[in-house]
Amino acid sequence: MAEPEVVDVVVLGLGVGGEEVAGRLAEAGLTVVGVERNLVGGECPYWGCIPSKMMIRAANALAEARRVDGLAGTAQVRPDWAPVAQRIRQEATDDWDDRAAVERLTGKGGRFVRGSGRLDGPGRVRVGDRVFQARHGIVLGTGTAPSVPPIEGLAGTPYWTNREAIEVEELPESLLVLGGGAIGLELSQVFARFGVRVTVVEAFDRVLAVEEPEASAVAATALRADGVEIHTGVRAARVAHGPDGFTLHGADGAEFTAERLLVVTGRRAHLDELGLDTVGVDASRRYLAVDDRLHVTDGIWAVGDVTGEGAFTHIAMYQASIVVADLLDHVRRADGGADPSGTSSVVGGAVGVASSLAATGSSGGAGSVPRADYRALPRVTFTDPEIGAVGLTEQQARERGINVQVGFTELASSTRGWIHRTEGAGFIKLVADADQGVLVGATSAGPAGGEVLSGLAVAVHAAVPLAQLRHMIYAYPTFHRAVSEALRDLGS
Ligand SMILES: Cc1cc2nc3c(=O)[nH]c(=O)nc-3n(C[C@H](O)[C@H](O)[C@H](O)COP(=O)(O)OP(=O)(O)OC[C@H]3O[C@@H](n4cnc5c(N)ncnc54)[C@H](O)[C@@H]3O)c2cc1C
Repeated sequence: MAEPEVVDVVVLGLGVGGEEVAGRLAEAGLTVVGVERNLVGGECPYWGCIPSKMMIRAANALAEARRVDGLAGTAQVRPDWAPVAQRIRQEATDDWDDRAAVERLTGKGGRFVRGSGRLDGPGRVRVGDRVFQARHGIVLGTGTAPSVPPIEGLAGTPYWTNREAIEVEELPESLLVLGGGAIGLELSQVFARFGVRVTVVEAFDRVLAVEEPEASAVAATALRADGVEIHTGVRAARVAHGPDGFTLHGADGAEFTAERLLVVTGRRAHLDELGLDTVGVDASRRYLAVDDRLHVTDGIWAVGDVTGEGAFTHIAMYQASIVVADLLDHVRRADGGADPSGTSSVVGGAVGVASSLAATGSSGGAGSVPRADYRALPRVTFTDPEIGAVGLTEQQARERGINVQVGFTELASSTRGWIHRTEGAGFIKLVADADQGVLVGATSAGPAGGEVLSGLAVAVHAAVPLAQLRHMIYAYPTFHRAVSEALRDLGS
């Protein structure tokens, strides 16, 4: 067996979260080995957020041009996928090449190892026949993979996941989308706007089932207006694939056909591959259980989608800051406050970063690090109109026994909504804790729903008293001014 190489920290999986942790710890002067089996940067830059938002930008440009008629003259639109595919290949993904990302990490002083790694006992990570012994910690940032349901006939067919949908160079004539969550809806609307006949099949009784019912209705109406067929409450029972494409059979006898099938029914962490048994951690769970400093167990932290705290890049980045602060605090304590690597320049690096992060922490006190707080978790579904949401939905708040008060207003009844002709395509919904006099959740759907969300996220995060929100001045005529109307609806 190879002699273990001793380093300070090993980061396993260099997606958004892992890359951030590895880079910042390396910059702080620790010896860091980052292990990645695929592309440094992970899902977000290559098959997720960035290319999908490029697709959305292009599809929204088409939709906006189509709105010229009746508003500003006439416009003829001829969609062409080629510039979208080219932009994704050239600008977003460098033809799915991570050289720049690897250099970004090594430029910060990190070491990079390409390969599939797994835990190999306390403090150890094995990558092929190389073994690394981490003096201070291991960070797991191994993300998730598409969760494909065990539908009869599906395995072995050339169905798409988000990866094939992002990489597509030539659009199919028709597309079945299994799953009406955020990713399914975003991609469905894009493809429909480029002329693909899209059918969404969703098992729940509404699309975007995790958000407010009003948000589901707005999204469904918008997609239908783009020509998307939506079927909810359909449990997929069987899939058949032949020369003409796919047929999806619902348990209720319904049948749907299309040239291509996109499966976007959620994501799952592959804990069974990580060697967790060698460190006494249960690998049978859906996600890695972590505490509010992202500890999994002694000497092991986790970051990003693998924690199950929300599959968003901003969660991975948020958690990365906490892991970096906590790990550096741990290093400082382990070394009795001394320089972790024995060079004076590093004292200023690692300890300096630890203490400056601690200073910005929410828990206060010398040497303390911020603790994860997901109360104000923001999420945006980038359909047109956008659906922004933060904190609890009305139903979630009621399930928690909160004395709920709801405020609601249609965007169309605001001046800006009327000018914009949003019609039924937007609203603000506020969910308040009447006893505490604060917002615990909010949804902003509309042309800039994701941006309007920002003020609502501050209100939930900082528990701004409702009285303060009512006495704020909201610029006229903005979309966010509708918040004041929703506050009025909330009552005093
Ligand atoms: C289509 C789509 C659109 C999205 N849009 C948005 C959006 O608009 N906004 C948003 O916030 N989020 C969005 N997301 C979610 C976002 O991409 C993820 O939340 C984010 O990528 C999570 O980062 P991560 O670091 O946890 O994991 P990942 O990005 O999944 O990275 C994990 C990395 O670990 C590597 N790995 C796994 N196991 C091993 C191993 N044993 N050894 C070595 N390497 C390993 C993998 O190869 C991978 O590169 C989107 C996702 C998809 C699919």
